[in-house]
Amino acid sequence: MFMNPFPSKRAPVYADVPDEKWYDWRWQLSNRLNTVEEFERVLRLTDSERKALSQKGLFRVDVTPYFVSLIDPDDPDDPIRKQVIPREEEIVPFTGMMEDSLAEDQHSPVPGLVHRYPDRVLMLVTTQCASYCRYCTRSRIVGDPSATFSRSEFELQLDYLRHTPQVRDVLLSGGDPLTLAPRLLEELLQKLREIPHIEIIRIGTRVPVFLPMRITEELCTMLEKYHPLWMNIHVNHPNEITKELAEACDRLSRAGIPLGNQSVLLAGINDCVHVQRKLVHDLVRIRVRPYYLYQCDLVEGAGHFRTPVAKGIEIIEGLRGHTSGYAVPTYVVDAPGGGGKIPVMPNYLISMSDHKIVLRNYEGYITTYEEPLDYKPHDPKTCVYCRNKRPEPGQKGITALLDGEEMFIKPEGFDQLHRRGGGIHRLRADPTKWKPLGIGQGNDEVEPKNE
Ligand SMILES: *Cc1c(COP(=O)(O)O)cnc(C)c1O
Repeated sequence: MFMNPFPSKRAPVYADVPDEKWYDWRWQLSNRLNTVEEFERVLRLTDSERKALSQKGLFRVDVTPYFVSLIDPDDPDDPIRKQVIPREEEIVPFTGMMEDSLAEDQHSPVPGLVHRYPDRVLMLVTTQCASYCRYCTRSRIVGDPSATFSRSEFELQLDYLRHTPQVRDVLLSGGDPLTLAPRLLEELLQKLREIPHIEIIRIGTRVPVFLPMRITEELCTMLEKYHPLWMNIHVNHPNEITKELAEACDRLSRAGIPLGNQSVLLAGINDCVHVQRKLVHDLVRIRVRPYYLYQCDLVEGAGHFRTPVAKGIEIIEGLRGHTSGYAVPTYVVDAPGGGGKIPVMPNYLISMSDHKIVLRNYEGYITTYEEPLDYKPHDPKTCVYCRNKRPEPGQKGITALLDGEEMFIKPEGFDQLHRRGGGIHRLRADPTKWKPLGIGQGNDEVEPKNE
């Protein structure tokens, strides 16, 4: 396995902590830093940081001793420092910020479950994290221990999934699912696995980055019982890729879990094609595939992290073709108001006519491609996959539309769902807080048809 053989340095204040404690995730969690005094023992705070840390009502601060030790204490612009230590800019909300910028709450049929796409759901299982990112897209709920999810809410989430057969992919997020009590996490995975139509389970987590010691052999042995299980971690800067992270990823990979990375484009942290190239190269060396690069969301207190979208396009332009295709993430803007993730990329298609297209390559070289004159398309009438395709509610299917056919496919289980009376709305826990799904959202856009 790639990696320098040395464990990452510890801040001098931790020099005397015995290894048994340092490598114990419980010790790391209970010794997290959150006050001016605690941070001052590790680095010299700037006036701006001191002011923000003294501010009441700020989004929760907590940093593991492991992660804070990766900061260069003499560099006020250290890229790790800026991700986890608040600065005074955070106190000033910028215009245009939104509390729930992705309208996740409006797409929640039950608390904590966001059903925006036809075949997959986002399941928020906790509000707790190992450390807190200053640009957190869910700072409206994350960090607040009183707002975390209860067993009865998990049951509502599971009940919705049991009755929503078009969901084949469940994405556990939060908060950070790997901060859940191990027994509770396993119970959730077990119950999800009992639902036959759920094909894959994904975990989105920053625990390997903030708290790599949590990725024990024991945890991996538990996780591998619930395959197919995929995982996305969250690394923004090459300085986060330590021997400890590499080993944690190696344990996860050896448990058969494919690893991806989701990073956020952050001003002054990774808004540079050279930083990004080093980041993606170091990621693929530890067998983590860059998955998404996110444009920073419109979140209160995170305005100072935002970059123009052109910066993201420039970064992708500097990666695609210049390096391994495996190392190039998809740059996405998560649409404010709840439109979902929209990929944005440099334009390589210059023009198109009925028989010819004009393209450019990554070096700016221009080329043309002749379209075929005798294309015989695949026949959806004889194609078994077209006929048996997994139904999407209310969607006629491109092939049916092209054929001018009035085709209507009901998802498996749709009738039972509606026979239960009230369908999914019946499952909502608090009707004043959780709005019903609207047209074009989730699974209830289908007009019941006369049969
Ligand atoms: C990101 C996201 C998903 C997963 O999207 P993929 O593009 O499949 O990774 C699912 N649901 C919600 C609400 C999301 O925000």
